[in-house]
Amino acid sequence: MKVTFPRMGTLEIPLRAFFNTLGIKVIVPPPITDKTISLGARYAPEFACLPLKINVGNYLEAYEMGANTILMAGGIGPCRFGYYAQVQQEILADLGVNYQMVLLEPPRGHLWETLGRLWELTGRASPARIFRAGRLTWAKLKLLDELERLTAKSRCREKNRGQVGGVYRRALAWIDAAATLKELARAEGKIKGAFGALELKAGTPLRVGLVGEIYTVLEPAANLYLEKFLGELGVEVERGIYLSDWVTSHLFLDTLRLRREQRAVEKLAQPYLGHSVGGHGLESIGHSIQYARRGFAGVIHIGPLTCMPEIVAKTILPVVSREWDIPILSLFLDEHTGEAGIHTRLEAFVEMLRARNSFNQQLSLPGPAHSR
Ligand code: SF4
Repeated sequence: MKVTFPRMGTLEIPLRAFFNTLGIKVIVPPPITDKTISLGARYAPEFACLPLKINVGNYLEAYEMGANTILMAGGIGPCRFGYYAQVQQEILADLGVNYQMVLLEPPRGHLWETLGRLWELTGRASPARIFRAGRLTWAKLKLLDELERLTAKSRCREKNRGQVGGVYRRALAWIDAAATLKELARAEGKIKGAFGALELKAGTPLRVGLVGEIYTVLEPAANLYLEKFLGELGVEVERGIYLSDWVTSHLFLDTLRLRREQRAVEKLAQPYLGHSVGGHGLESIGHSIQYARRGFAGVIHIGPLTCMPEIVAKTILPVVSREWDIPILSLFLDEHTGEAGIHTRLEAFVEMLRARNSFNQQLSLPGPAHSR
């Protein structure tokens, strides 16, 4: 068995650790390029969402490298994610691509079935071995999220362009190479040391929250390297959702902490949207309000073109923006979206936020402090 899975941000690092620890061969699809996207777009239905198309491109590229089993997350709820894997399976079968697909449904749907499938996939490994692999995977996930936060905080302050990117890439390699928890702890020390040694500019950068559909938030090739671009403009970006949050809530049992946070986000969104619309539509609203309350300068809301949950969120966010006095820019992306167009809109948005901030400061207006 040679397992592959869709690329999404840095997910390949913890997944590789999981399967390698269990002695299962993993074939990670090559990094997403224009070729991957056009390959997926050629065979997926035109109105399918961008992540589905990119996933198909990943599977086809991994197939050429010898993969024969796909690990894919399933979904429940009103959006298309619920039948995503089945559509992908049909596309691959029509192309004569012979893959076995293992679907991990969210636990709210089918906990025992999910665990059973995972157990089969691990070659019926002993619980102790699975536990060891799971612990290392989870520790890597948490450290990767920490790395993303450190990178976002540092890139907007870097003195020499590219300095932080270099540390980030080295840090990814250290995390990937760690085969045990001890080695991972050493990698963490090295990462903290490398970031601590960076010479950074003083001052407070503009802070912007990034909300929206999970895949476009986490995968730089899908969002046209939006976070890096904003960082280089001197903007600190905080994501509404990180990789470990998604894994916790979608694939494994929700932790109490995440449930609590999730409830807080839903409560904030409640006056505008009373129920889930699938994906992260509800969270886009709740997180935008949280950013307004925390005094962020603005929010960037992103999603794939035709993404139903984010279209619902987009219709509500102008009201949130007005009532909570926070500028929100919505961007929808597909395989035809050009980097230059998106970057121009981001530059204009950042300029507007800077002008707004200095105007407020000149008038000595309080920041967007909200008491609700
Ligand atoms: S959340 Fe949006 S992009 Fe993801 S499957 Fe649902 S509709 Fe498609």
